[in-house]
Amino acid sequence: MEIKNLKSEYLESNIFVCKNGNSCVVVDAGVEPKLVKQAVGNLKVMAVLLTHGHYDHAMHALDYAKMFDCKIYASGFAKDELLDPAKNYGESFKLNSFEDFVFLRNNGKIELGDFEIQYLSTPGHCKSSLCFLLNNHLFAGDTLFDNGIGRTDLYGSSKEEMISSLEKLDAFEFEICHSGHGEDSEFARQKRNIKAFIRFLKR
Ligand SMILES: [Zn+2]
Repeated sequence: MEIKNLKSEYLESNIFVCKNGNSCVVVDAGVEPKLVKQAVGNLKVMAVLLTHGHYDHAMHALDYAKMFDCKIYASGFAKDELLDPAKNYGESFKLNSFEDFVFLRNNGKIELGDFEIQYLSTPGHCKSSLCFLLNNHLFAGDTLFDNGIGRTDLYGSSKEEMISSLEKLDAFEFEICHSGHGEDSEFARQKRNIKAFIRFLKR
C-alpha cells in the first residue's frame, strides 16, 4: 500500500490517500477538494473514512463523496457533531445531509474491493473518534500523536474514555501510526508513549 499525506490549511490536519492497485481510500477530509483530486489522479476512490467529526477533519467530506461518487464512513456519534459548529469547532461549518454517510458502531471490519479496513472505536478526544487499521498502518486521528494525545477538554471529551481507548490501542499491533496532526510514528515508540500517556491520565 502506498500512502500520500496532504496537510490542510486548517490547523494542519492530515489527510491520507492510501493506494492499493488501481483504487484508494481517503482518510479524513480537511484538505481542499482540488488538491485531493490531484493526489488521487486516475485511482478509483472506494471510500472516505473519517477519524472523527471535528471540522478540521470532516469539512470537505461531502465534497469528496460527490466528487468521487463514494460513501463516507464515520462513527454514528459524528452526526451530532457535524450538525452543530459548537460541537465540531468549525466557525459556521455544519452538515444537514447524511445520505452519503455510512455510520459505524463499536469495532468491526469494512471490506471494499482490495481493501480490508479494521475500525476501532476510540472515544476520549470526542465521542466519534475512530482508529482505522489498513495493512498494518494505523490511522489514529486525534486520539494519538507522534508525541502526545488528543485534547480531552472538548465537547464529548472524556479522560476516562481516553484511558480505555489507549489501553485498547496498547493491545493492538501496527507498524506505523499516521496521526490527525503532525508526523508519522513507529510502533515501538508508540508502545512506550501509550503506556506513559495512560500513567499520566491516571494521576
Ligand atoms: Zn479533533
